[in-house]
Amino acid sequence: MHSQFTAEPSSNDMAERDFTVGDVPGPWSPASGADRAPLMFDVIIAGCGPTGATLAAELRLHDVRVLVLEKETEPVSFVRIVGLHIRSLELMAMRGLLERILEHGRQRPAGGLFAAITKPAPKGLDSAHAYVLGIPQPSIDHLLEEHAIELGAQVRRGCAVADFEQDDEGVTVELANGERLRSRYLVGCDGGRSTVRKLLGVGFPGEPSRSETLMGEMEAGVPQEEIAAKVAEIRETNKRFWLRSFGEGVYQVVVPVAGVSDRAEPATLEDFKQQLRTIAGTDFGVHSPRWLSRFGDATRLAERYRVGRVLLAGDAAHVHPPTGGQGLNLGVQDAFNLGWKLAAQIRGWAPETLLDTYQAERHPVAEDVLDNTRAQMELLSTEPGPQAVRRLLTELMDFDEVNRYLIEKITAIGIRYDFGAGPDLLGRRMRDIDVKQGHLYGLLHRGRGLLLDRTQRLTVGGWSDRVDYLADPTAVLDVPCVLLRPDGHVAWIGDDQQDLDDHLSRWFGKPAN
Ligand SMILES: Cc1cc2nc3c(=O)[nH]c(=O)nc-3n(C[C@H](O)[C@H](O)[C@H](O)COP(=O)(O)OP(=O)(O)OC[C@H]3O[C@@H](n4cnc5c(N)ncnc54)[C@H](O)[C@@H]3O)c2cc1C
Repeated sequence: MHSQFTAEPSSNDMAERDFTVGDVPGPWSPASGADRAPLMFDVIIAGCGPTGATLAAELRLHDVRVLVLEKETEPVSFVRIVGLHIRSLELMAMRGLLERILEHGRQRPAGGLFAAITKPAPKGLDSAHAYVLGIPQPSIDHLLEEHAIELGAQVRRGCAVADFEQDDEGVTVELANGERLRSRYLVGCDGGRSTVRKLLGVGFPGEPSRSETLMGEMEAGVPQEEIAAKVAEIRETNKRFWLRSFGEGVYQVVVPVAGVSDRAEPATLEDFKQQLRTIAGTDFGVHSPRWLSRFGDATRLAERYRVGRVLLAGDAAHVHPPTGGQGLNLGVQDAFNLGWKLAAQIRGWAPETLLDTYQAERHPVAEDVLDNTRAQMELLSTEPGPQAVRRLLTELMDFDEVNRYLIEKITAIGIRYDFGAGPDLLGRRMRDIDVKQGHLYGLLHRGRGLLLDRTQRLTVGGWSDRVDYLADPTAVLDVPCVLLRPDGHVAWIGDDQQDLDDHLSRWFGKPAN
């Protein structure tokens, strides 16, 4: 069914909004001309992981009709603690979600993130949320899905995307059960083995897995002190080895394995025992596993994030080892970058090239994450050369600027998109600051642009349906005015109305009359 897309969609899809809410598909007909099935949704998202759920919520803020198709009937149940980093926490605060999320996690200082080098976080990190939130991935996945549903996204579980075909008006998506659905756009948020990416024929160059890690939760048969002593001894040189006590004799066990197994085979308790004996000389009497898993260290990046009406985000676009805990964060941040742009395209006000800035901005960010995980994996090697480099870097991190640079990289607050020449703040995310109505992020819950005007002379004029305006001479800013995009990045700095209007047009299209 799949065919390579050639025609570019029109920049203004508003004219295509010929459906009404409640349209139901007619019988399947060939995707050509007037016989095509009606466009039932604006966007179909394949995959309801953290990236897909976040994207669905962002689209719903703009009243975009979203269907999320998830192949699993039930959410993943095994508990893997993931770290939410500063930029993701800021984004959650920008949408009013942070309080809810904080209840399910544990805050810890934002130190020791780079290659597990134990250094305290540098002082004065430029954020109101300068910590890491450890949270079970099932909890964050659930909270994001729940939020998307509350905003009106439809989520259908037990529905795997099996094929699709795109044309100049939309995308026809075929499910594994043969059902066909039609939407204007399809976004593949379907994880590292993405069906959407494969069907698109987009290359996924990089390195295959060279080593694996076994990870699971189980009980141990020896006293905790004995385990702690052995783990401390091994971790002096092998930072990828870990037995973390959950109390009552239950441990999370993380054991690196040299080489790559047949990933199709599920990990067994015997695999864990054997590998524990190889590394620690004992299997600690492990038994009664709660869950067992294995993951590799493949490092790959999609060549393109968009082909016509089909886009990729999250692990579907990039995979890398979990060192530094960045994958989920990266995917969620992809979704925040893409959501308002795709919504603008569908609502009909997107400037010609806006949707393509998604790849232009996010591909280099993923490239950088892949590179830093490659570097971290080298630093975690037990070979003498990398261990010497690790010792050297450990010393260098005593310099505050080195430590700060690495933390800002891992936590994604150091990102600066290339919006052209201008002050350093241009293209960076704006931290949360106090404004006369409270907090700046509190004004971004609706996912609209915002002009923060200390001069009180400017106006957002014909863009007021897309951009909010706040006159606040007291705002703690060392520039007169900033224009924020819905993802919180600074799109313009200045005090001249004509210049502002040019930038409003650049990011938010033509003014309404
Ligand atoms: C051990 C480990 C620790 C990690 N720790 C961290 C951490 O601390 N911080 C961090 O940021 N990241 C961490 N990660 C990475 C993180 O788990 C992933 O990057 C994240 O889950 C990616 O989210 P996603 O939504 O893009 O993809 P996924 O979570 O893979 O979700 C994709 C979804 O798509 C569904 N799907 C697949 N195919 C189809 C189809 N054909 N049709 C419909 N649905 C489909 C899947 O069932 C799945 O629900 C860790 C990963 C591992 C392995």
